Amino acid sequence: MVEAHGISKQFGDLEVLTDIDFSLAPSEVVCVIGPSGSGKSTLLRCLAFLEPYDHGSVYIDGQLLGYEDRNGKRVRTSEKRVDDVRAPVGMVFQHFHLWPHRTALENVTEALRLVNGLSRQEADTEGMAMLEQVGLSDRAGHFPESLSGGQKQRVAIARALAMKPRVMFFDEPTSALDPELVGEVLDVMKKLAADGMTMVIVTHEMGFAANVANRVIFMDQGRVVESGPPATLFRQPKSERLQQFLNTWR
Ligand code: ATP
Ligand code: MG
Repeated sequence: MVEAHGISKQFGDLEVLTDIDFSLAPSEVVCVIGPSGSGKSTLLRCLAFLEPYDHGSVYIDGQLLGYEDRNGKRVRTSEKRVDDVRAPVGMVFQHFHLWPHRTALENVTEALRLVNGLSRQEADTEGMAMLEQVGLSDRAGHFPESLSGGQKQRVAIARALAMKPRVMFFDEPTSALDPELVGEVLDVMKKLAADGMTMVIVTHEMGFAANVANRVIFMDQGRVVESGPPATLFRQPKSERLQQFLNTWR
């Protein structure tokens, strides 16, 4: 569903990603873990083509979204094509980026109306269904400033879901939240996983990764150091680097 080959990226002299291969099967939930600065966000952004990279290619549903084809030949993907190819990808970030002057419902319906061309009524019906899915039907008319962090993040998830993504990318969706609000957001993600959503989740929530992920990827210094099912990765880490990293979370 998502496939990446040989992604490398530098910021100036700093090599941030080195030769990353990645693949994601339908309904798979992959958690990406690793120390700060290891390249997790950059990888996610490269997979979604929000960040240019120096080498490699990304395929979404078999469609090339990158700079090199399978033979290493340089190609250029037009902006219009990038939008089309990544349309199945929904994204949720650490900071929710809601429009402050729009209600929860309007935040969810904006793109339905402006991008998908739905009428206000159609968009509202769809938007309410999405808010319902994240347990927020009763907050539809609230503005972001009167929502808790956890509720804002759930609105952001509802907004992404409204575009009917086939894959969801999450970058530390709970890192900006007070500890007592983390659970409600993780519960929504757990439910999505149980419903078969394909997801890549950058997270520091090891318990969540252990329970929900089909596969965990450990990154360090721009490389994938280890990956595998959570039971193996967490209980029998092979590399010293992962052992050290896990010790800091115990
Ligand atoms: P965190 O857990 O703190 O979010 P991360 O694993 O997501 O970390 P990235 O944000 O991907 O790490 O950053 C990887 C490296 O790239 C870091 O050394 C970071 O300082 C650097 N970096 C990220 N964005 C830029 C940028 N726009 N310009 C220069 N360097 C950058
Ligand atoms: Mg990050």
